[in-house]
Amino acid sequence: MYVQFLKEFDAKLAAYFKRDSAAIKCQKGCSLCCENGDYPLSYLEMSYLMQGFACLDKEKHDCVRENIIKIKAQRETLKAYPCPFLLDGSCSVYQYRPLTCRVHGLAYMRSDGIVKLPECARCGLNYAQNFDGETVNFEPVKEDLNLDKIFASRPHLDFGPIKSMIDFF
Ligand code: SF4
Repeated sequence: MYVQFLKEFDAKLAAYFKRDSAAIKCQKGCSLCCENGDYPLSYLEMSYLMQGFACLDKEKHDCVRENIIKIKAQRETLKAYPCPFLLDGSCSVYQYRPLTCRVHGLAYMRSDGIVKLPECARCGLNYAQNFDGETVNFEPVKEDLNLDKIFASRPHLDFGPIKSMIDFF
């Protein structure tokens, strides 16, 4: 059921990315959104991610494991950290990545009326030409793509508790 949901969700996101393509700078080689975050995800997403982890060859598997061990060792002092699945600037589990990663890069309107911009807007990337540091001069996606809202829209799926990715290890 989760895989079917992802298929539908990805199709919807693809339409949003296409609509905003003039303002979006995502391209192969850019991994800014995977370098410093806390990657909240649910138990269900994590279970799927671990299927991707299990498919990695031994070399990549060992690299991810080493990344996890390094981050865990510093966890108490780290609020944000590089994603352990980021290898050589690419996502090693792309097909299995969590929902936050799929949404990342889009600007959308939250249900409280606040426009949620991707962090990279402040680094001159997505939507930067439409954002002066305070105000946004474009029509964001009119759907709240926060995790809690996505989960609420799919009550038949049991997503389970949410944690920062590293805290599942
Ligand atoms: S799972 Fe993949 S897309 Fe998501 S933060 Fe990690 S490397 Fe980036």
